[in-house]
Amino acid sequence: MRSSAGMERESLAMDSVIQVETIIHDFWASAPSNSLHLPSGEKAWAEPHVAIARGDDPLFLHHKELIGPFLWTPEEAYALAFPEAPAPADELRVISYVLPQTPQTRADQRREQTLPTERWARSRFHGEEFNCALRLHLAESLTRAGYPAVAPERLPGFAYQQSERFGLASNWSERHAAFIAGHGTFSLSDAMITRWGKAVRFGSVVARIELPVTARAYGDDPRAWCLWYAKGTCGACAKRCPADAITTGAGHDKGACFNYIRETTTPYATRNYGTGATPCGLCQVKIPCEAQVPPALLAAPKAPPV
Ligand code: SF4
Ligand code: SF4
Repeated sequence: MRSSAGMERESLAMDSVIQVETIIHDFWASAPSNSLHLPSGEKAWAEPHVAIARGDDPLFLHHKELIGPFLWTPEEAYALAFPEAPAPADELRVISYVLPQTPQTRADQRREQTLPTERWARSRFHGEEFNCALRLHLAESLTRAGYPAVAPERLPGFAYQQSERFGLASNWSERHAAFIAGHGTFSLSDAMITRWGKAVRFGSVVARIELPVTARAYGDDPRAWCLWYAKGTCGACAKRCPADAITTGAGHDKGACFNYIRETTTPYATRNYGTGATPCGLCQVKIPCEAQVPPALLAAPKAPPV
């Protein structure tokens, strides 16, 4: 039986989770930057979702071994922000959030076959500007409340390097943080499949705070929610890619994807929509995992007792 002190600690921790979710939700709801900057005034993103990983989850070190020594662990990212007061990994939490594309943005993009739509290009540009502001807002709000926090992707040292195994890779990976936090798994196209599908973007903050972690429904299996890896079926994302940068034999060809985006979709979006950034994302819609985990991969609910 839990002691009353234990129950009190647990309830305080739950309150902190709700407070973290509230900071993210309120900023999503009220920040003028959460906008596609269209006359309709519509938001860049649908409602956000939050998951939490331990700073000392062994998967962070495992990913560093796989990707390269340049990949920061939560402890290393935190120490860069607070060099005078670094914290041990077990006192850190990684707060990862998902920003889903809106139903209108997904519906537009489903109709296209070779070039991104205006809404998609705007979410990639203006939506990511909002995402950067949200990362900083969350880190600053927690720090002000007495929980020092940093958004690793916003650190001055954030950069891309060549990984021997995976090609171009950044020294903080929002997708790997999201996987460890329980949001979802990787897929044939390398993108993450979350409970809200693949048409999403991520952000994260590392904080010195006591928070209960989110359960990973897929354990440590990095591709559990992709039909191709789980059942050898589907491959719909490969058919959606106009650059043939996804194949069921070799997965995602980062070079072919990079070239198509740099040479075709980015100049097109700049010319036609006046946006910056590097939009494409045709492989993220009109597929079974667009806005959900493929239902065939989620455990069937248990029958009620008779
Ligand atoms: S479209 Fe199919 S093969 Fe591609 S990532 Fe989704 S589930 Fe996997
Ligand atoms: S982002 Fe575009 S080019 Fe890259 S894999 Fe997806 S559809 Fe192909």
